[in-house]
Amino acid sequence: MRCVFCGHEFEESDGVTGCGACPGGCHGIHCPKCGYKNIQEPVFLKRLKNMITKRNKEQTS
Ligand SMILES: [Zn+2]
Repeated sequence: MRCVFCGHEFEESDGVTGCGACPGGCHGIHCPKCGYKNIQEPVFLKRLKNMITKRNKEQTS
């Protein structure tokens, strides 16, 4: 995923989750570079995006 704050690309597993500092529990992924809390994409949204990009590729080629 890409950090929306600094643009640094990192694996979700490399991000810091559950920092304990966020109120109400931390569900975001903190950028390992700048520490910005990125919102984790729900799995269904990823699947939806994959479907859309696949469809777009089929249309353009
Ligand atoms: Zn960042």
